[in-house]
Amino acid sequence: PEEQFAPDPEKKTLVVLGTGWGSVALLKKLDTANYNVVVISPRNYFLFTPLLPSCTTGNIEHRSIMEPVRQILRHKKAAVKFYEAEATKIDTARKVIKIHDNSDVKGNINETEVPYDMLVIGVGAENATFGIPGVRENSCFLKEIRDAQAIRTKIMDCVETAAFKDQEQSEVDRLLHMVVVGGGPTGVEFAGELRDFFDEDIQKLIPDIAHRFKVTLIEALPNVLPMFSKQLIDYTESTFKEEHIEIKTKTMVKKVTDKTVEAEVTGPDGKKSTITIPYGLLVWATGNAVRPLIKDLMAQIPAQKESRRGLAVNEYLVVQGAKDIWAVGDCAVAGYAPTAQVASQEGAFLARLFNNMAKTEALEEKVRDLSASLNLKPGNTAEAAKEIEDTEKQLRRIKDIKPFHYSHQGSLAYIGSEKAVADVAWLNGNVASGGKLTYLFWRSAYLSMCFSTRNRVLVALDWVKAKVYGRDVSRE
Ligand code: FAD
Ligand code: NAD
Repeated sequence: PEEQFAPDPEKKTLVVLGTGWGSVALLKKLDTANYNVVVISPRNYFLFTPLLPSCTTGNIEHRSIMEPVRQILRHKKAAVKFYEAEATKIDTARKVIKIHDNSDVKGNINETEVPYDMLVIGVGAENATFGIPGVRENSCFLKEIRDAQAIRTKIMDCVETAAFKDQEQSEVDRLLHMVVVGGGPTGVEFAGELRDFFDEDIQKLIPDIAHRFKVTLIEALPNVLPMFSKQLIDYTESTFKEEHIEIKTKTMVKKVTDKTVEAEVTGPDGKKSTITIPYGLLVWATGNAVRPLIKDLMAQIPAQKESRRGLAVNEYLVVQGAKDIWAVGDCAVAGYAPTAQVASQEGAFLARLFNNMAKTEALEEKVRDLSASLNLKPGNTAEAAKEIEDTEKQLRRIKDIKPFHYSHQGSLAYIGSEKAVADVAWLNGNVASGGKLTYLFWRSAYLSMCFSTRNRVLVALDWVKAKVYGRDVSRE
């Protein structure tokens, strides 16, 4: 209906999909007065993913790392429309997006279309399972808030079930065996958080079974954290040894059942064998896969035929082969790793690009008006000609936008027992460090990067609370 959204007919409609790192970085810097801005996402908040592993054990409460998108949009110069919905289809021919309200509460209308003049896609990625049987049915992922909540509940369920009267010893061992698949930073950080939880809290509260607790990290490649330097990989592996986290490298999971994981191990002689590992909790962290919405869009564009990992974009983040569509973050393939750092720099770049495009259009209009007035009133020729020349100079400067360039600030990961690893760009070089001091750096870096002061205060209070009173082990 008209009163719900009356776009200014003078302005173009800019639709932004998603409220993650890429889209929110764009919205933060975008001058919303230049466009009719519409944001569509099934999540009405921004999530600070770097601290998500800490939510799985209650070291941080989940709401401390969420920022409502309406709170973010409230401060914009011109009003922005937000629809809590999932985009289900991008129709490039008609320039419309089909949206669907997939929340529990639905009105009479839960599907509709939103037209766009310009579209930014920042829908991120989904969890990769590589079609391995049993993964979706039996394991927990670690990508969204609800995943962290489900893991937190399941850890305590395993613990309480292991402590059940007359529980068989072999079943206690299975229930207290927490298996993590994927030795990327998500898997490593989660394994570290889990060990801390048991050592610092469960040990005190349920000492009779705590010594049976075990964490195993399974990785298909020869080592964990492939994006870090060799020195930090070795440091992480030796720290995990001290923390009694077993790392099984060159081990590829092939099948998952409700109580076991089957994996193929490549031995030092290159021979392959199969092992079966019983587990209580299984966390699956094997990276990203392309969302169905993006696959469908790629199938509509012949230029995307060769692209496998997401929407191929050019150096201005324009989706190759499409008109008026840009993509940022994990759903875009721009030649960088799928990280928050990349996504947020891409979002900020697009904001600058769109702000400039609007300024360019305004200046072009000014030049047209000045030229017309020159023809109408030939009297002030010199003055008007000078103004046209100045405006054109300004135009040339604004139009000269450099392509997107990613500036890598470094990689950071928490590895448990108050230790972290960091590969940080420093004075044209790289500094690799690991240990307790790096952990303090990790904490202060992430605290300063939190979205708002409110988030920062909540996270700091959670850390103090967990230290003083211990993590809350109530099972919700
Ligand atoms: P996301 O942040 O995932 O946002 C996608 C948005 O799109 C969400 O709002 C989602 O609800 C929405 N959406 C999904 N489907 C649709 C649809 N159909 N229609 C409309 N909207 C849709 N990176 C780092 O650089 N440093 C770190 O320390 C770090 N830690 C991480 C820890 C964890 C546990 C995880 C999972 C990731 C971490 N990352 C980190 C990676 C980082 O979170 C991602 O690279 C980043 O979130 C990508 O940003 P994005 O905007 O592309 O997608
Ligand atoms: P990832 O892609 O970095 O790692 C997944 C790992 O799973 C790979 O090492 C892969 O070899 C392994 N794997 C895949 N299939 C397997 C199987 N069947 N059996 C055993 N192992 C298997 O995934 P991630 O850790 O979720 O990270 C995703 C992205 O987010 C990355 O770009 C990462 O840099 C970023 N991230 C960064 C941080 C940080 O900087 N602290 C934290 C989390 C995520």
